[in-house]
Amino acid sequence: MRGIDVNALLEGLTDRQAEAVTTTGAPLCILAGAGSGKTRVLTRRIAYRVATGSADPRHVLALTFTRKAATELGRRLEALGVRTHVTAGTFHALAYAQLRRWWADNDRRPPVLLERKVGLLARLHASSGASVSGRANVQPVDLAAEIEWAKARMVGPDDYEAAAARHRRSAPLSPAALASLYRRYEVEKQRRGLVDFDDLLIGLARAMGTDAEFAASQRWRFRHLFVDEFQDVNPVQATLLAGWRGEGNDLCVVGDCNQAIYSWNGADPAQLRDFKRREPGATVVVLDDNFRSTPQILAVAGSLIPPGPGRSGRLRPRRPDGPLPYIRTFERDVDEARSIARLVRDRHAPGTPWSQIAVLTRTNAQLVAFEEAFRAGGIPVRVRGGGAFLERPEVKAALGELGRPDGALAPGLADMAAAVRQGSPELGTAAEERRAVLEELVRLGHDYLALEAEASVAGFTAWLAAGLRSEAPHAVTDAVDLATFHAAKGLEWPVVFIAGLERGLVPISHATTDEARDEERRLLYVAVTRAERELHCSWARQRTFGARSLRRQASPWLEEIQVARAALAAGEAHPGSTAWRSRLADERARLHGLRGGRAAVGGRTGVKIGSAADPGLLDALKSWRAEAARAGGVPAYVVFHDTTLAAVAEARPRTQTALLDLPGLGPVKAERYGDALLAVIAAHKGDGRS
Ligand code: ATP
Ligand code: MG
Repeated sequence: MRGIDVNALLEGLTDRQAEAVTTTGAPLCILAGAGSGKTRVLTRRIAYRVATGSADPRHVLALTFTRKAATELGRRLEALGVRTHVTAGTFHALAYAQLRRWWADNDRRPPVLLERKVGLLARLHASSGASVSGRANVQPVDLAAEIEWAKARMVGPDDYEAAAARHRRSAPLSPAALASLYRRYEVEKQRRGLVDFDDLLIGLARAMGTDAEFAASQRWRFRHLFVDEFQDVNPVQATLLAGWRGEGNDLCVVGDCNQAIYSWNGADPAQLRDFKRREPGATVVVLDDNFRSTPQILAVAGSLIPPGPGRSGRLRPRRPDGPLPYIRTFERDVDEARSIARLVRDRHAPGTPWSQIAVLTRTNAQLVAFEEAFRAGGIPVRVRGGGAFLERPEVKAALGELGRPDGALAPGLADMAAAVRQGSPELGTAAEERRAVLEELVRLGHDYLALEAEASVAGFTAWLAAGLRSEAPHAVTDAVDLATFHAAKGLEWPVVFIAGLERGLVPISHATTDEARDEERRLLYVAVTRAERELHCSWARQRTFGARSLRRQASPWLEEIQVARAALAAGEAHPGSTAWRSRLADERARLHGLRGGRAAVGGRTGVKIGSAADPGLLDALKSWRAEAARAGGVPAYVVFHDTTLAAVAEARPRTQTALLDLPGLGPVKAERYGDALLAVIAAHKGDGRS
């Protein structure tokens, strides 16, 4: 293709990356940790194949999972000069466009997209006859998540109970009640002519399964398949991919098992982990350099990866050193938001635009406080979701200029593009804003045309309204990004603030199983690895939820960040080495107030702590721990490790202060469990040592 310099595409790549860009191996799987250049390799590979003529851009399909990630993918393809003809977007956006085509071909009226299922589910659940107290314990979002899980596996209401048992789901309702709710939800949607987001994927997969001609045309259209963030693919998406792929092998997937963060709603990271086994002919390339973050940030991130199979090797840092991560405790959530606003302002300088800074939180609700504090401080923020774009009067007016709703989109869009190129004779802010809006609409229109060649104006408007487009990078000027951990996936910023690192949020309170907690850990890993140069972590002792103000405790994982930070500050050991691990153990012990620091639990010096424990007391402590774990809905080790209980049974502390001298017993745990521990000790009169 004209205009693409093949050599330039290979510049600035490591040998391994260049191999991943140029290999003819197919299918191809690129496995690597955060910031190792997976997305860079994926986009370069698309451009490389186009430039060398082995792929026709009109037949390239590049997929990802979140809208922000799709924007990023599009932006990078644009920079490489191949955005125009390539179809790139989220699975949902693509499925919606393709289904509209299919509905039109089959003379079906397009259903209306139900954007949030929570409201409908809440109403259906409320009318289900469940007792009021039974209803009060159930969060509609949890019902929605469970139904999404089922739909992601193409499990319908009739098969739900069996599937839930097979996967040991712990749903908010009994399996039978959930199946019944699910059934009523499906019926109600059908009655009202609605489809939800999951139906888009399922609908397209079904259409391809039943309509051979349609399937063949899809396969013809999407001949070269590329998937970013493959660890988050769910079974329906995998079915769609298999449908597009047919007998062919032209598939390239990239991903990182340590960043799998959508298992809760049906994603299946085994698709990535077992790629080689499922695809015996596959070529797998592993990248292990990190080009994004400072060694300091990487060391902290590495300490957060849950242990276990699939844990990838350490990433080699390639960036120069930077500051240690910052850790801050605030009295109230409003203090946290205001202080971060001040810190953000301090960092904004010539050469550091607002857009190089992001604030990340676990939940959407937490972002509101930041939006308010930043607006009050005159700091521009990027509005999440971008739904507001359609609400702007100048956007509505411009949409009207595209022509009749049932008319074709392409001619009106061409006129609009010409008008933008010519420029306007008017001057002033209003004219400039109008021009920016038109430019943005033209860009989005081209995105939509890439998804749906015979698009209508109505189809385009519906697609915009459904929020399926990628976020509009050019419609907003320089602004600080506010995003949830989930939405931050695949993105990067020089300066990142991670706020609200509190128990109940990180990990989120409903993550009660080991699997769910591991996913929460990976989610924090994703958040931390977004930072290039500066990482700021914070929490508040008091937070307001609705009308209630609650006392908070720091996230248990903040301690790990703190420990890694201290080990870095000591500066003796190389992250990942054996010395580093014992350094971490030392710092953990020191943090817990153990005198001397070095005699860590199972440490290198001195007698192992707890080896002289009173066995009777130890038993009593273990029974107490089992009870506390049950009551708290957490695994026993979260309450206390065996080693900590052994240390308690040995030292028999009588006071809170004495408790704090023991390893594994920080102020947070002492406050939470201290009294109960002291009571168990006091009640245990039998003294094994006398
Ligand atoms: P994630 O897992 O978070 O999605 P990723 O593996 O997709 O990360 P990229 O976003 O592609 O990583 O790359 C991370 C950063 O490193 C980007 O800014 C990218 O431009 C840069 N980068 C990647 N490879 C190189 C390289 N060989 N030389 C210099 N910079 C690089
Ligand atoms: Mg990426």
